[in-house]
Amino acid sequence: MDLCSVSRVREMLAENGLSPRKSLGQNFLINSRVPKMIAKRSAELARNSESDETPIGVIEIGPGIGALTIELAEVFDRVIAVEIDKGLAGLFEKTFSEYENVKLIVGDVMKTNVPALLCDHFGDILDAGGSVSVCANLPYYITTPVIMKLLESFDPTGKCPFSSITVMIQSEVADRLAALPGTPEYGSITASVSLRADVVKNFDVSPGSFYPPPKVTSTVISIIPNGGIREVFPDVPVEESECRKFFEQTSGIIEAAFSKRRKTLTNALSGMYPKESVASALIKIGKNADIRGERLSAEDFCALSSQLNIRKE
Ligand code: SAM
Repeated sequence: MDLCSVSRVREMLAENGLSPRKSLGQNFLINSRVPKMIAKRSAELARNSESDETPIGVIEIGPGIGALTIELAEVFDRVIAVEIDKGLAGLFEKTFSEYENVKLIVGDVMKTNVPALLCDHFGDILDAGGSVSVCANLPYYITTPVIMKLLESFDPTGKCPFSSITVMIQSEVADRLAALPGTPEYGSITASVSLRADVVKNFDVSPGSFYPPPKVTSTVISIIPNGGIREVFPDVPVEESECRKFFEQTSGIIEAAFSKRRKTLTNALSGMYPKESVASALIKIGKNADIRGERLSAEDFCALSSQLNIRKE
């Protein structure tokens, strides 16, 4: 079934009285190699090895006409797709009516209860020791909110149940998510994501691979959740509620550090802690007292947070 040529996409939209909606970030894939590569990458990360036969499932956000869905249905045991546009949903239902392993949920991913979706649609796969991933050609207008929602839907101190989140996003955002401390792209989103996951850039996709073409280049990234905060910083409080408080405190420090990016950390955090406490905590973790937050890794922020806790006690 051809769902991935510009003539076919135009034809399917026209037959259903639809046209691409810019407000919903509708840029449909028209280069058949790209959805194949995205689905392959996502499935590779879901399986422990090629011979691994435990079931694997995937949540697709914004399936549109289904160019990526059809490839995901080949390599995953189950695809649950969430689409906000009712017109596209009708078209999608017709196309995939014969696919037993594909199910559509019509709704806004930002309003979706992710743990409930996981439990309702993938409980059997998880019980059988399988895994669930997320895969999407994301609508650009909600790229970072969707990623943060997926990562924040679960206890931040424990393991997020997704084996990976493989998404196509604007290259500029991909650069920010994968940036290293001390580089201009590094920011609060980078450090916040690093508390929960590693980010890998897979490959770039040019505007000509979409209809209509976006103004910017896209990049397919994989976000691979870590085993929980203890993996980033083993020295977190043992008790669960204390561990959660520690995570919240560290997230607050990251936010404050980047809200005043040009300031030194002692100044940026002065509304939260006395300057002398921040300065001596920084020295304790082997940093200069006048360092800026943009030079600290997620692990450094945890170490700083831990020192500030000790000083409070
Ligand atoms: N997956 C298709 C493809 O690759 O050709 C379409 C991708 S298009 C970039 C983004 C899709 O996300 C559109 O189908 C759009 O209607 C859908 N979408 C936009 N906002 C959404 C939301 N809040 N919840 C669920 N789907 C959304």
